Amino acid sequence: MDYLPIFVNARNRLCLVVGGGEVAKRKAGVLLDAGARVRVVAPQIEAGLAALTRVESVVARFEAKHLDGVTLVIAATSDREVNRQVSELAQARNIPVNVVDDPGLCSFIMPAILDRSPLMVAFSSGGASPVLTRMMRGKLEMMIPQNYSRLAAFAERFREQVKKRVTHPAKRRIFWENALDGVVAEKVLTGDEASAEAMLQQMLASEDNIVRGEVYLVGAGPGDPDLLTFRALRLMQKADVVVYDNLVSKPIVEMTRRDAQRIYVGKKRDDHTLRQEEINDLLVRLAKEGKRVLRLKGGDPFIFGRGGEEIETLAAEGIPFQVVPGITAASGVASYAGIPLTHRDHAQSCIFVTGHLKDGTMNLDWDALARPRQTVVVYMGLHGLDILCAELVKHGLPDTTAIAIVQQGTTQNQRVITGTLATLPGIAEREKPQAPTLIIVGGVVTLRDKLSWFHPQGS
Ligand code: SAH
Repeated sequence: MDYLPIFVNARNRLCLVVGGGEVAKRKAGVLLDAGARVRVVAPQIEAGLAALTRVESVVARFEAKHLDGVTLVIAATSDREVNRQVSELAQARNIPVNVVDDPGLCSFIMPAILDRSPLMVAFSSGGASPVLTRMMRGKLEMMIPQNYSRLAAFAERFREQVKKRVTHPAKRRIFWENALDGVVAEKVLTGDEASAEAMLQQMLASEDNIVRGEVYLVGAGPGDPDLLTFRALRLMQKADVVVYDNLVSKPIVEMTRRDAQRIYVGKKRDDHTLRQEEINDLLVRLAKEGKRVLRLKGGDPFIFGRGGEEIETLAAEGIPFQVVPGITAASGVASYAGIPLTHRDHAQSCIFVTGHLKDGTMNLDWDALARPRQTVVVYMGLHGLDILCAELVKHGLPDTTAIAIVQQGTTQNQRVITGTLATLPGIAEREKPQAPTLIIVGGVVTLRDKLSWFHPQGS
């Protein structure tokens, strides 16, 4: 260990910042956050810094007397000579000193912090790698969400009540684990404390409820694991059982908890390993066994994902659940393919439809789709491509309208095939795109040549 990490009580203490620019302002801000009084010394002090409350501005070159009465010093000038002088004089008086970006002149260093007061995480690479520190922050941000302090306060509020109601210590531990790691916590973390409280009371109301399963209906995005949300990832690492279908990419399934049970429920076109009703029942059964069940779905669960049906069954059975939105194929795929879904010059509206064939026909409101200055995104449309193009032309779109098929968008296998309403069916016949594919119709498709060049996956 190169440094001793400590937390300093700076409340109402006078701290000195030497320097009057952007960096000095940032440092003064941290000191103020910790309740310190701040003296800023510099020949020129940026207006925004001087205006901060609890800041005493001294417009002058630094001198030894500015150290009088000071608990701690930060030198943040761009003049190394001044910084060195501050460091020497402070150390001569045993005042802890930090010189920004100059560890050799420091008697203490400032860690990166993650403030979830009263929970506070401070971390540092000791100057070895600021990039690594930044990456670590990303990980910590994800593990310790913003509202964690709220969660602690929430738990404290119900501590006594739970203690009285669940007298057995082991049971009480499980109760709190379930509450603080489950749907109650998720409610608190999303700011809905009223629902969290109602759920907690419900859990307390009956012995059977104390140890109880739940379902997370999570959107996994269109394929690239980078497009997962923090919340999705958190729940993926918490669930005991994972129920997924083939729209969820393999790398994503592999990010679920190592020891979780994984159940594949199929759902390729015409190959439904389990019917929807069977999936609904499976979720109920697993939750009733007390498991935390992750129902992982491609894209967003509420966009052509039958998420609504799955939660209806859960609600009817009184099983707690939560729904986590994901990046839907339309937005993920369009962006990786370099096709903006709306654009001032090409489309003022965008419409998502399913092109799933029923008895060989596509039952859509063609008049609403065949409008100028509108982008149409068709999910599950490849098998009806001929019908789609013909109907759009029949209802008024020029047959020169641009159209794209994006195969396996956002993944390594992404492929974009473009043409017009007249030519694309023939091109697709030859190119044989592989599922899943998304169809995008409209002038925005022509922008792709200009834009996709800059995207690493814009093949
Ligand atoms: N809930 C999902 C959609 C499920 S319907 C979502 O919000 O994205 C399944 C259809 O989504 C597929 O037939 C295909 O049209 C589209 N799709 C999903 N992922 C895709 C991908 N990576 N590339 C292209 N199309 C995709």
